[in-house]
Amino acid sequence: MPRHGLLALLALVIAMAAPDPGSLTFAQTSSAEDALVKKARSIHEKVITLDTHIDFSPGDLTGERNYTQRLDTQFNLPNMIDGGLDALFFSVYVGQTREAQHPDAFKPEGYERAYKAATEKFDAVRRFTREIAPDKIELALNSADVRRIHGQRKKVALIGVENGYSIGEDVARVKEFYDRGARYMSLTHNGHNQLADSHIGERDGWKWNGLSPFGKQVIAEMNRLGIMVDVSHASKQSMLQTAALSKAPIIASHSAIRALCDVSRNMDDEQLFALKKTGGVIQVFAYSSFVKTTKPDSSERAAALAALRKELNLPEPTGPGQRARFQSAFKQLSTDTRAEYDKRLTEIDTQHPGDPPVNLKDYLDHIDYAVKLIGIDHVGIASDFDGGGGVIGWNDASETFNVTLELVRRGYTDQQIEKLWGGNLLRVMDEVQRIAAELQRKTE
Ligand SMILES: [Zn+2]
Repeated sequence: MPRHGLLALLALVIAMAAPDPGSLTFAQTSSAEDALVKKARSIHEKVITLDTHIDFSPGDLTGERNYTQRLDTQFNLPNMIDGGLDALFFSVYVGQTREAQHPDAFKPEGYERAYKAATEKFDAVRRFTREIAPDKIELALNSADVRRIHGQRKKVALIGVENGYSIGEDVARVKEFYDRGARYMSLTHNGHNQLADSHIGERDGWKWNGLSPFGKQVIAEMNRLGIMVDVSHASKQSMLQTAALSKAPIIASHSAIRALCDVSRNMDDEQLFALKKTGGVIQVFAYSSFVKTTKPDSSERAAALAALRKELNLPEPTGPGQRARFQSAFKQLSTDTRAEYDKRLTEIDTQHPGDPPVNLKDYLDHIDYAVKLIGIDHVGIASDFDGGGGVIGWNDASETFNVTLELVRRGYTDQQIEKLWGGNLLRVMDEVQRIAAELQRKTE
């Protein structure tokens, strides 16, 4: 089906699920829906749509295989064009090595491995924007670049660093990353590091009780250079201490709302108020596991699923590492047995339905909540594609228009949608760079 056909169908499905239209006939609702889609379409084309967090592998930015092609990834340029997405932050992500895995995790050798992994990603973005597709996408270093490149009808790439682990214990690397194009950097990922505690401490216990002395030095350097401090993945204490310490507004490049999905990765109300106080922005992300905590299966459903697995000799898919075991066992079944499994699963879904999958409405509830709590100027949008996703209705970049459509349906105005879709983030980036220039003048 052509993309626009698919979008129209999706719009219709969403419309049919909308509140009871009362006495309106189907023809009337459908023409009201057409008008809504038309309005959303014109806003979507007018504003700069900016997604602050997309993961990638350098292997997807080579001469042979790259994002000018419709790869089997959530993000790529054809998807970006179909969805009307204008700008993105590529995430220079490095996973957190623990001492239990590598005793040298926090020694020069461990830091060097992380630094190399990060520089490989910086180089890949540079290669893609400068050599592979310079006529289609360009790297932006400030908001004026974003507007200029967008005006030239090219896509806009920006760079954010995920996990300050990769700078090691060398504060000069903050400047190096800035020179390589980084405009935000998160302090941590899912594990404590030399800069700060990660949210994961709620399960594993703490290392610093917030920021480390070196972490505080790094924040000062980021302020001085004009890199936005990103508190996504940080612990609550790290985040609150960052908000108090930073001389410039801070961001959460991809986080959701803890009041709606109670996981340590998300931000609670106290954190949201602290973020607002800095003048910063939370880029609410569409990663299904952090948008809604799936309710456990009813005992009937659990029993039916267990019986089916037992009958077909499949292992239980729950528990660490079991999901992969289940999938490999499933792949070894004959085609007939797999078809039988699917048929029986559909029957179970009808008789004992599970919690419905996370959809765009669940995601937009997070945006509504944040806007009501801290105001329209402090909220934005991020996908975490190719590192997350899973929200029905916005599960790859080609479906980006659906977000604007749902915002319009909820009554957001043109101006508010412009702020959510990047206006706020660009304002923060300008402010962070203005403060950096001021700090540099003072120390001269
Ligand atoms: Zn992340």
